[in-house]
Amino acid sequence: MTKLKRILVTGGAGFLGSHLCERLVAQGHDVICLDNFFTSQKSNVAHLLGKPNFELIRHDITLPIWLEVDEIYNLACPAAPGHYQYNPIKTMKTSVTGSINVLGMAKRCRAKVLQASTSEVYGDPEVHPQPESYRGAVNPIGPRACYDEGKRAAETLFMDYHRTNRVNVRIVRIFNTYGPRMHPFDGRVISNFIRQALEGEPITIFGDGNQTRSFCYRDDMVDGLIRMMEGPDDFVGPVNLGNPDECAIRRLAELIIELTGSRSEIVYKSQPEDDPRRRQPDITLARTRLGWQPTVPLREGLEKTIQWFRTIELSHYRPPTPRY
Ligand code: NAD
Ligand code: UDP
Repeated sequence: MTKLKRILVTGGAGFLGSHLCERLVAQGHDVICLDNFFTSQKSNVAHLLGKPNFELIRHDITLPIWLEVDEIYNLACPAAPGHYQYNPIKTMKTSVTGSINVLGMAKRCRAKVLQASTSEVYGDPEVHPQPESYRGAVNPIGPRACYDEGKRAAETLFMDYHRTNRVNVRIVRIFNTYGPRMHPFDGRVISNFIRQALEGEPITIFGDGNQTRSFCYRDDMVDGLIRMMEGPDDFVGPVNLGNPDECAIRRLAELIIELTGSRSEIVYKSQPEDDPRRRQPDITLARTRLGWQPTVPLREGLEKTIQWFRTIELSHYRPPTPRY
């Protein structure tokens, strides 16, 4: 039988956080969702508000907070380029000061704490696919640095609290993840393409569309996060979590046009600065240490995501976030 725990999810109202909260609540845990709603809205967790084992706190993680918990999933951070570049200094503060705050709480409560790191720590990689041992090629002064370097600094803090204060930590490096409840105006490629396809707008490919990403469906990712948190204490990571099925952005556009039955045309726009050319996780470590691997193929995950996008009312979401 699962031992019931008090679990804090920072960024818990976001795309991944809300699904994680949902899963943990269903398992019977006492879940505290903390969020400042910078890139999300209360509607993502509205269905959980009436549950006796769910609590929502509006709070900014860059400010200290005093809670008693057994586990912390630290997901608070804007994740889409347009969102994290909107206020880059705040993004860095969220990763760095936010991590210091949750690590301090974990140290005081003797809680286990998991950091949602990212494939962006590899920057525009010269090694392909990317294993955890690869140290990355990040431009420290470019427009993506507030996110990439913030997450790298957070990993440093997690390892230093672990080594010097014996805090029980876990670090996962999440590769592009998608699914229902993505913000329709976050500017990420899957949300953009699906929304554009459904609205009959031109599909905007940045660059020639030969750049690749590897897309993981959200259910697989939530499984991976929980497995890592529940895994052995001597396995702190970092561990890659993602789907190794690599896909060119042009192929993704064509697939979304096919699955939506859209008549949208494809238009080519300039490629953003420092946009990584290729990205694919080496998940050998996750397979061997966690027995984890993704199970949802891209086509199936996209169908579910498209179905959800068909049901939402776009005017209920904040308008497009300018990008670059
Ligand atoms: P998201 O933007 O939907 O969720 C982030 C949540 O954090 C939002 O609810 C936002 O309001 C909240 N937040 C932001 N700053 C905050 C602050 N200062 N205090 C409190 N809350 C704050 O993004 P997501 O895709 O769900 O990503 C969740 C986490 O996973 C992030 O840390 C992100 O960096 C990481 N990640 C996601 C992906 C992906 O493809 N989805 C890839 C790599 C890493
Ligand atoms: N992209 C694109 N059109 C869009 C949005 C994104 O061609 O409308 C490209 C983007 O340039 C990048 C890839 O899709 O090469 C993934 O972008 P996203 O912002 O989703 O995530 P990230 O770059 O952080 O992986």
